[in-house]
Amino acid sequence: MKRCAMEIAALTFATMTLVCAMAFGQTSGGNSAENYDLLPGLDKQLIDTTANPCVDFFQYACGNFSKLYPIPNDRASFGTGTMIVEHGEKVLHAMLQKAAAGGASRTANEQKIGDYYAACMDTEAINQEGLKPLQPDLDRIAGLKDKSELPSLLAHFQLIGVNAFLSFGEQQDFKDATKQIAVVDQAGLGLPERDYYFRSGDAAEQTRKQYVQHIANTLKLMGEPESQAARDAQSIMQLETGLAKVSLDITSQRDPNKIYHIMSLADLQKLAPNMDWSRFLTDVGTPPVKELNVTYPDFFKGLNGLLESTDLNTIKTYLRWQLIQATPGIVFPKAFDEEAFDFYGRKLSGQPEQRARWKRCVEATDTALGEALGQVYVAQEFPPSSKEATLQMVKDIESAMDQDIATLDWMSPETKVQAKEKLHAVADKIGYPDHWRDYSKLVVERDDAFGNQQRAIIFENLRQLDKIGKPVDRGEWGMSPPTVNAYYDPSMNDINFPAGILQPPMYDPKASDASNYGHIGAIEGHELTHGFDDEGRQFDGQGNLTDWWTPEDAKKFEAKTDCEVKEYGNFVVVGDAKVNGKLTLGENTADNGGIRLAYIAFLADAKRKGIDLNQKQEGYTPIQQFFLGYGQAWCGDTRPEQLRLQVQTNPHSPRQFRVNGVVQNMREFGEAFGCKIGQPMMPENACRVW
Ligand SMILES: [Zn+2]
Repeated sequence: MKRCAMEIAALTFATMTLVCAMAFGQTSGGNSAENYDLLPGLDKQLIDTTANPCVDFFQYACGNFSKLYPIPNDRASFGTGTMIVEHGEKVLHAMLQKAAAGGASRTANEQKIGDYYAACMDTEAINQEGLKPLQPDLDRIAGLKDKSELPSLLAHFQLIGVNAFLSFGEQQDFKDATKQIAVVDQAGLGLPERDYYFRSGDAAEQTRKQYVQHIANTLKLMGEPESQAARDAQSIMQLETGLAKVSLDITSQRDPNKIYHIMSLADLQKLAPNMDWSRFLTDVGTPPVKELNVTYPDFFKGLNGLLESTDLNTIKTYLRWQLIQATPGIVFPKAFDEEAFDFYGRKLSGQPEQRARWKRCVEATDTALGEALGQVYVAQEFPPSSKEATLQMVKDIESAMDQDIATLDWMSPETKVQAKEKLHAVADKIGYPDHWRDYSKLVVERDDAFGNQQRAIIFENLRQLDKIGKPVDRGEWGMSPPTVNAYYDPSMNDINFPAGILQPPMYDPKASDASNYGHIGAIEGHELTHGFDDEGRQFDGQGNLTDWWTPEDAKKFEAKTDCEVKEYGNFVVVGDAKVNGKLTLGENTADNGGIRLAYIAFLADAKRKGIDLNQKQEGYTPIQQFFLGYGQAWCGDTRPEQLRLQVQTNPHSPRQFRVNGVVQNMREFGEAFGCKIGQPMMPENACRVW
């Protein structure tokens, strides 16, 4: 059940333990951006020299980006990171076309990725199949005679990826990271998260109206008469609103103590007696468990009440909706695909056009067979020299943190010992896993897009459930190698950088060290700092949720993070929407700590290499280049609808604040650009945590 914090779908899960660096790569991809390729490390073309870096550094570093690369119609946002995603899609596309071309010489993995892709591209077969593949499950819903039959059906839904009412999976035990346990979590909403059901204001009300209309449109496509579809959509909305009411809000979900409640099966049965939990667990096929993490007990108490008060017919209507809503549009007839895109893409994200099918099929293949695709990708695209160089930078960043901790004036010697112990236990994972996942049991057929997608989900869910009760595999990755992103996992205490992000401009072998430290160095520092942000600091070096701080140091830490909560909470994004300082605190702390660590590491590197810090190159000193590298990692533009969605659901601050919010806390930035104290990028009072 580990999900990256980026995906909209993941936001209904409380057990998000992965913390990612990026806000790109998750949304929709591009079409008209065919001709873009990777940007160089330091791109002078992007700089708006008419802007004052001391007033608005984002505008200075990135002011020309949107003129050169306006957001394509099939994107909700477009930036430096998206360009790497676009590049990766082209590379993967060529690989998949080759694998799809067939031939007896294909390896087992090439057969799987090639046929998966080919089946996904076969729209004729998909349209011809229509809703037929869904019929057995629709029949099963229609055949429900009594609520007591629900646990078996919900168990089956879990396996095929339909999180109706709840979600079930495995996680590392927060308090004993050597154990893998079962977890049951809140779920079952079709809007991005609970507050969408209650927020006031015109935009929020319009979204709810559009959502109800979207449900009705989908039910009509399934054959319901218009008036019935409208009635059903209302009752689904009402039931989901009931679920939302008892759900934990997205900001609280960041607190591990709020989503960790180990309970015996008997106690869960007492908490929510309207569901036969033994039956559910047996049917989901999990190894026998005596206890599990019930993330947020109040939700299950509320769910119990809803199961009692809602009539069976309404439940059936909701289940039909959940089933169809959870199935990716790409394996459905065009009308369904278009309807889903119209709401989630066009209305919710402001993206005018659907992405090209080939790009969506590349992405779908990566989702289903990420390490089979990744193995081919890495062999072709990720030279050992890149792995060596970026690993060396990670080591330098870790030394920088060692030094940073030693010199902190606010932390007591006792807590410093603990902090260093945790730091030294961090595992560095670069590029790709040492052991590749075995897909031999996953059947992929060339003429069965729907079946492939469903078998892949079942395969993955069973793989996850099979871990329960077994030792942890610390070599496992939560992202596929081509992914343009990175993450920290507090239970593993590891930092992970897939090969996809270790390329220009983030890591550019041809760019200056200054630019590379500003780009990928800051991202490496960001992930490492996650181990010590408001969430990560609650876990120790072994990955256990345990308090290793003296009470005074914890208090001082919180005062320091409060400064960032206020700083970012004042940034106005779009209309009445502001950055949520608490939701974004972990990411902002990681951004601020990350750049400082990269800066310390860069200075050490420059000293080692005898780089003259006053010598300008291409018009900029190495330190200016470092900050420009940082700023240009976040160049780009975002549509207003997507911005609103981002601030309401995504723990990352919008791009301009990831740049300006950070440099205004770095006195070294102001000094490098000759700013005066009191200018916006060099305020008198800056925030600093790490
Ligand atoms: Zn992050």
